[in-house]
Amino acid sequence: MAWDFSTDPEFQETLDWIREFVDEEILPIEAISDELDQDQLDQLTAPLKAEVRRRNLWAAHLDPELGGQGMGQLKLGLMHEILGRTQEAPGVFGNQAPDSGNAELLAVGANEEQKEKWLWPLLDGQLRSCFSMTEAHVAGSDPTQIRTLAVRDGDEWVINGHKWFASNADIADFTILMAVTNPDAQPHRRAGMFVIPAGTPGMNIVRKPGTMSHPDSSPRKGRGGNHCEVIYEDARVPAENLIGQPGEGFVLAQKRLGGGRIHHAMRMLGVCQRAFDGMRERVVSRTSHGKVLSQHQLMQDMIAETAVDIETARLLTLKAAWTMDHTGASNSRAEIAMIKYYGAKVAMNVLDRAIQIHGSLGYTTDLPYEGMYRAARALRIADGADEVHKVSIARHFLRDAEPVEGWPSEHLPTRREAAVRKFQHLVELHTENL
Ligand SMILES: Cc1cc2nc3c(=O)[nH]c(=O)nc-3n(C[C@H](O)[C@H](O)[C@H](O)COP(=O)(O)OP(=O)(O)OC[C@H]3O[C@@H](n4cnc5c(N)ncnc54)[C@H](O)[C@@H]3O)c2cc1C
Repeated sequence: MAWDFSTDPEFQETLDWIREFVDEEILPIEAISDELDQDQLDQLTAPLKAEVRRRNLWAAHLDPELGGQGMGQLKLGLMHEILGRTQEAPGVFGNQAPDSGNAELLAVGANEEQKEKWLWPLLDGQLRSCFSMTEAHVAGSDPTQIRTLAVRDGDEWVINGHKWFASNADIADFTILMAVTNPDAQPHRRAGMFVIPAGTPGMNIVRKPGTMSHPDSSPRKGRGGNHCEVIYEDARVPAENLIGQPGEGFVLAQKRLGGGRIHHAMRMLGVCQRAFDGMRERVVSRTSHGKVLSQHQLMQDMIAETAVDIETARLLTLKAAWTMDHTGASNSRAEIAMIKYYGAKVAMNVLDRAIQIHGSLGYTTDLPYEGMYRAARALRIADGADEVHKVSIARHFLRDAEPVEGWPSEHLPTRREAAVRKFQHLVELHTENL
């Protein structure tokens, strides 16, 4: 019987190393991160990336033929739980969104020439990328509505449209853009995926809206994190920049998700665990009304709720990873939707409590929790709003629900009647109500 919550000792050693490396070498960067421009950050992280490569942990989410480890989602999940502890860690391990998802998409959809030009340098960390599907004027939750249009003109595609929330478009070397190629086809066959190199004439970044996590969208020293509004006006790309076939965009878009959502959820748990450590430290360090905070039952309630929240989200996520390893991504959709929605909810709850337990200090930028909270809020929207994931979950569980005529199956008088008939020959039962 295989039903095991343990980690094999050899992989635990790898996790122990990652934990120490993240906490000792990467986490301290946080304290000076805002002062660094991209070049300085690259300089600082280059030796760390080299060490990760030396240990064969670079871009571990990829299949071995792409230079990854093929270690499966469960192990990756455990690894990402540690990488989530600090925001620079995924980049140091070659697994930074949106590059990681884009690499997966190119690995599946790109031809050899495209891989040479875009995929290998992306995996190598020489290029940075952006993924652009969402548009300001149609619901991103229903991307069959996208309007950005790509029209074939000789050896080129001519692109017109209005995108936004193109994360990192301002610093990316190329954007993977989803645009309508077959306007008259069925909804999920209308769009294709294109590589748009930075600087393509007609691709205009018109604005970097301020957001909850970066209210001030002024230049951030060449660093990522902006969610750009981009207008395409007769932007031309060579025909060979189409990935796959016209109309294959939705199939390719699916390739970016799945595993990525597990990694995201586990990284969020890494953030939650850090906040929980801070909460535990605080409640045993401060007194109020004659007691250490930890002796107040309402504080104990917060600690207990947080422990249970983290544990449930962790088990749910690892179960989704296990399911994906055993049955594949398409059979794990409900599990993945559950963790996408539930992980974000737990993160909001835990970070809110971390702020509350620290009182006014928690509300200041002297502690990381307010920033973590603002950043985590995006998770309820990005990569599919909560409601859309709940719709998927409900659809999955309603799929084999059978309607009944008359009383529900659990109607107790009806069940009693059946039980009396079934057992009457063995025991004496009152039958006057039958
Ligand atoms: C931080 C961040 C980064 C992002 N990065 C990228 C990126 O790099 N590339 C990219 O293309 N996009 C990106 N996005 C956009 C993201 O994918 C969309 O915001 C998301 O898909 C929702 O689309 P929308 O914002 O248009 O909201 P809408 O689709 O307009 O939905 C608004 C609200 O309506 C409700 N709703 C919608 N549909 C349903 C339904 N079927 N049932 C019930 N309720 C529903 C939900 O409450 C939802 O929040 C990013 C978003 C954020 C916040």
